Amino acid sequence: MKGLLVAACLAVVASAHAALGHQDHDEFATKITKVTMNALAERYVKLVLALGQHDADYVDAYYGPQEWRKQAETDKRTLADIDRDAASTMTALAAARPDASAEEAVRLRHEYLTKQLGALRARVSIIQGRKLTFDEESRALYDAVAPIHTESEFDATLKELETKLPGQGTLTERFDTFRSQFIIPKDRLDATFKAAIDGCRSRTREHILLPPEESFTVEYVTNKSWSGYNWYQGYYRSIIQVNTDLPIYADRAIDLACHEGYPGHHVYNVLLEKILVRDRGWVEFSVYPLHSPQSLIAEGSANYGIDVAFPKPERLQFERSVIFPTAGLDAGAVENYYAVLSLTDRLSYSGNEAARRYLNGQIDAAAAARWLERYGLYSPQRAQQRVRFIDQYRSYVINYNLGKDMVARYVESQSGGGTDVARRWSVFTQLLSSPRLPSGLMR
Ligand SMILES: [Zn+2]
Repeated sequence: MKGLLVAACLAVVASAHAALGHQDHDEFATKITKVTMNALAERYVKLVLALGQHDADYVDAYYGPQEWRKQAETDKRTLADIDRDAASTMTALAAARPDASAEEAVRLRHEYLTKQLGALRARVSIIQGRKLTFDEESRALYDAVAPIHTESEFDATLKELETKLPGQGTLTERFDTFRSQFIIPKDRLDATFKAAIDGCRSRTREHILLPPEESFTVEYVTNKSWSGYNWYQGYYRSIIQVNTDLPIYADRAIDLACHEGYPGHHVYNVLLEKILVRDRGWVEFSVYPLHSPQSLIAEGSANYGIDVAFPKPERLQFERSVIFPTAGLDAGAVENYYAVLSLTDRLSYSGNEAARRYLNGQIDAAAAARWLERYGLYSPQRAQQRVRFIDQYRSYVINYNLGKDMVARYVESQSGGGTDVARRWSVFTQLLSSPRLPSGLMR
């Protein structure tokens, strides 16, 4: 039945062509591609919604036609049926490849649909019980493989931290004690977070034109494996949730406000909705499948966006003059706090190593938590929370740090090294408004 839909669309274009007999061949080819791609995009959206019936986390956002969602709920298609349809959609897509002279966005769109469908089929096979290694899984779902880092690389950073944080106990304990001076008191959390959002919003609005009606609300929640989450609602609105299970440190205010809000997930979703869904009518961007290559771009750009909005000197200045005073913390400690954090940032890939070993079955959950404590300086409670996150999201963990590094390299290489601030924002905004996927960042 789906094949008939494409055939019907092609017939419409063919008759349009007959009527416009004098139009040149290229224009005709462009029209066929557009109609075919729109029909295939619709099939893709319906496949994502169908798979969402088998995987509660899978459909992270959807604001397309509500009857398509209802249809998916009623039909409850089997995994085998979803996979067959995805395979035939990919075959039809391969036959509809735009030519090399087509507009870049159109070529990226075709590549996007192809890769997203490939990842959907991989997700189906994982739910059906197929076992993949950590790297095979991340390549199949997120279009990227995280580099391997050895214990000795982390040890070198830990050694530097030893000199910064002398005293009794393990380094993890000393880091925890040091960091506890920078916990935002609960009664100041909302005010601090609001101040951070204002800072992120005003910096972003200077460089990105956003629809005037865009907005989000913030909720404080508990009992989650993540620290923050953006639930995009469509119509330029998000709900941002902040998890308060564990104490929130001062640096997390700007990190979360930028990552979840401006210029992170909220802005990314708003731009996709405005530029691709509404202006171009590309319905595939009205659904966001969590386990797909798009997530590496989403998480990577949300993390890199923190540095775009707040280059280091500006960040320190804003922490000193706004965040620390609002949180009631000693602004004189900002420099030293950030000097320590710039070292612990280098340990971020230790989280991928813990996940890789754990998901490959080389270590158990307790050993993964101990690895995070030792090489990532996670407190025992944070290590437990992180293992829960790995259990739930698996190789998704690479999207944060590898995603950030890939987006940073791409934006900086396209904007001439990153010293031209306006150019950096412009390349970054272009990335947030386009269908570009991880392997497309490498070209
Ligand atoms: Zn995120």
